[in-house]
Amino acid sequence: MSGISRRQFVKGTAAAGIAAPAIVGLKPGHAGEVNPVVISSANGLRAVETAYNKIKSGVDTLEAVIAGVSINEDDPEDNSVGLGGLPNEDGIVELDASVMHGPSGRAGAVGGLRDIKSAANVAYHVMKRTDHVMLVGEGARKFALAHGFKEENLLTEKSRVAWLVWKETMSDKDSWGPGLATPEAEKQQEQKVRGMLDEMKRGHLADWVIGLLRHRPAGTLNCLAINERGDMSGSTTTSGLAWKIAGRVGDSPLIGCGLFVDNAVGGAGSTGRGEENIKIAGGHTIVEMMRRGASPTDACLEACKRVEANYGGNKDKLVKFNMIFYALNKKGEHGSASLWSSAWRIDRYAGAHYAVCDAKGARLMNSAFLYDQQAR
Ligand code: ASP
Repeated sequence: MSGISRRQFVKGTAAAGIAAPAIVGLKPGHAGEVNPVVISSANGLRAVETAYNKIKSGVDTLEAVIAGVSINEDDPEDNSVGLGGLPNEDGIVELDASVMHGPSGRAGAVGGLRDIKSAANVAYHVMKRTDHVMLVGEGARKFALAHGFKEENLLTEKSRVAWLVWKETMSDKDSWGPGLATPEAEKQQEQKVRGMLDEMKRGHLADWVIGLLRHRPAGTLNCLAINERGDMSGSTTTSGLAWKIAGRVGDSPLIGCGLFVDNAVGGAGSTGRGEENIKIAGGHTIVEMMRRGASPTDACLEACKRVEANYGGNKDKLVKFNMIFYALNKKGEHGSASLWSSAWRIDRYAGAHYAVCDAKGARLMNSAFLYDQQAR
C-alpha cells in the first residue's frame, strides 16, 4: 500500500462507514450452495421473475438476465428503455446498455445505439462475438445489423408527442414554438401544453407530458442475478436522459459505473443521473466495498455519500436529481440505496424501491436512502 499506511487506510475506511477490510473472495461455488435470486430496479418486476424462472430451469445467469430485461426493451409503453424510450434533443432514440458475465469475467457494451431495440442483447453479442468490450453509435448499429438484429423506428407516437411538446415549450434559444423569448409561469405553460395537446388530439397525454416537462425524465433497468452455484451476471439497459445532446452516453454502458460484476464478490448497478455515477465509478466502488466486508445496502449508501460529497452536501443542488444503487453479493444477499427517499420516475413520484425475485416470488422491497424528501 503506497503513500498510505495500512493503519491509516483502515482508519479512513472506518470513518467512511466501511467495515474493516476483511477481504471477501469465496471459492468457486457448488450447486445448492446459494439460493438463486434476481434483483433489479423497481421497473423490473417482470424482468426479475422471468430471469429467476430461467435460472431455476438451468439457463446461464447472463442469458436469463437478458431474457428478463428484453421484456422492458420490447414494451413500447416503457419509456425508459428500448422501443418507446424517450429520445434525444433531435427526436432520435439512442440506447446504452452493458452486460457482465461473472463466471467468464467478460463484458460487453453499446453506447448511442440507434434503431435496434434489444440493446442488452447487442451488448451480449459484443461480448461474445468480438475481441472488444464496447461499440458505439453507427459502428454499434452496423454490428447489430450484421448479427441479424431487426432495424425499426424506436420513436413511438407517445414519445414523439412528448419530445415535440418539450421542443416547443422548453427552449428559449431556438425558433421552435411561439413566444419562447418570454419565460412563462408554470401555470401558463401548463395551459399552453394542454392547448397544444388538444390541438394535436392528444389531450389524454397532457398530465404525462406536463410531468415530463417539470422533471427531466430518466429511467433505466439494472438487473443482477446469482444461481445456485454462486455464479453471477448483470445487465443495465436504458434510453438515457430524455432530450440529451445527441451522442451523450450515460453511466449504463460504462463497465464499473452503471454495472460491475466480480464473480468472487458480487455485482452492483445503478439508475439515475448517470453523470453523477460516472464521477464516482459507482458499480466498481460498491463491489470493492463488499469485497472489504460491507453489506450490499451499506455499500450502496456509501456510493450515495460519494455523490453527496461531490456537491459538498449542498441539498439545493442534490435535490435536482436522484441516484439509486443496487447490489447483490456472493451469498445472495441484496440491498439498494437511493440519494432521496422518493423521486420523480418516468410519470410519477415514487418511493425508493427495488425488485427482487427468489423462492418467495417477485416483489418490491424498500431501498435505503440518504435524504428524506418529506423532511425538506
Ligand atoms: N442512468 C441513466 C443515464 O444516465 C438514466 C437513468 O437511469 O435514469 O443514462
